Amino acid sequence: MTKVLIIGGGHAGANTAFALRKDGFDGEITIISNEGYLPYHRPPLSKDFLKQNIAIEKLGFKSTDFYEEQKISVNLDTHIDSINLESNLAITKDASFNFDYLVFATGASPRLLPMENADSKNLFYLRQIDDVLSMHQEISADKEMILIGGGYIGLEVASAMIELGLKVTILEAEERILQRVTSREVSKFYNDFHSKKGVRIICNAKVTNLNAENQMINSVSLESGESLAADIVLVGIGAIPNTQLADLIGLECSNGIKTDQYCRTSIPNILALGDCASSFNTLFNYELRLESVPNALAQSKVVSSSIVGNELFNNEMPWFWSDQYDLKLQMAGLSSGYDECHIFGDIDAAEFIACYGKDGYLIAVDSVNKPKQFMLFKRALTNGFKLEMSLLKDKNFQPESIFSGSN
Ligand SMILES: Cc1cc2nc3c(=O)[nH]c(=O)nc-3n(C[C@H](O)[C@H](O)[C@H](O)COP(=O)(O)OP(=O)(O)OC[C@H]3O[C@@H](n4cnc5c(N)ncnc54)[C@H](O)[C@@H]3O)c2cc1C
Repeated sequence: MTKVLIIGGGHAGANTAFALRKDGFDGEITIISNEGYLPYHRPPLSKDFLKQNIAIEKLGFKSTDFYEEQKISVNLDTHIDSINLESNLAITKDASFNFDYLVFATGASPRLLPMENADSKNLFYLRQIDDVLSMHQEISADKEMILIGGGYIGLEVASAMIELGLKVTILEAEERILQRVTSREVSKFYNDFHSKKGVRIICNAKVTNLNAENQMINSVSLESGESLAADIVLVGIGAIPNTQLADLIGLECSNGIKTDQYCRTSIPNILALGDCASSFNTLFNYELRLESVPNALAQSKVVSSSIVGNELFNNEMPWFWSDQYDLKLQMAGLSSGYDECHIFGDIDAAEFIACYGKDGYLIAVDSVNKPKQFMLFKRALTNGFKLEMSLLKDKNFQPESIFSGSN
């Protein structure tokens, strides 16, 4: 019987198992997870679960019964330390697992702050349920929270903490928040929105010291000379793909485990997907490493297809979402290299779509609170429509016309 062993029980790993069963694979499927919970939804960790609006039981993808019925074996609290390629074994400290196909779905880990006192008890990173459970012990309305990093995690946590009544400061090292992922226009919109909600945002902020006593940080010093009081510090400065195991067995890695469009690595029976993989995407003709749930889901179908012998490949248009306050941000396409940005809708009313163009054509959109129209743009980008920016800039343009042909 063919054995598929999946390392990692996150979105990528679990959905690979589900896709295999959907595709009719009747061999053995084993998921190895070094976390103590059945595979669960990660996005609520910085949103509703952080605010304690949903119970831990609601985070799981599926119940224990489901895994039993589907004959998917899940080994929790189990860490794969090494792999023996000659005998096709994945090895933990006290057991080993045999495989015909090995799937790397090892995800990513928070980038650590290389600084004295970064191991203090009130400094947190946010990746797993246990991180949030530890944070819950420290969160209360009267406290001051310093968020190091003005990316999605920092901003989502800021919105959650402000709603819970904490005093929140974001320290962003770059000249604007979300600099790596969006335009000046959208960064400014989020900067203004958070500021109005009471978040203090300091850009160009270089943290020089975490000042601590008894392993508890009490203030954070900046290069500017300013010192900020802190009860809780959260660091959200990006994530690094978990490629240590892949490196050990000589898989080609460069910002993630390199794969072809079928999610196959440089070793034929080993595949990789999700946050840990840098996968060739035929839409762009280069490798992309994306950190998003839609990416993990799309690639899980590709991995399954590669194992059962179908012919799916990576041609998914990247997309992502982020929820802050009552703002639903949805992004589709890759905006890097854009040469114009047109705002469709009303940015002051927090209902708009930033349309990014290159050489006269639309390449990506960032949508705030326009989910229906976002879906139209996303569909157009996914289907390879060449939408002229001049058309989008026409004051009579309506996204509905993209598919009705009336424009
Ligand atoms: C707080 C937070 C909020 C997010 N919000 C959004 C959002 O709103 N929208 C969105 O699209 N995306 C969001 N993301 C990103 C999204 O969650 C990830 O892209 C997605 O989880 C990637 O899935 P994955 O399975 O590749 O990796 P992961 O979910 O990281 O799963 C990998 C698993 O493998 C385990 N593992 C690693 N090495 C080993 C080993 N050697 N042995 C055993 N197990 C191992 C890890 O511990 C982990 O459990 C968010 C991420 C975080 C952290």
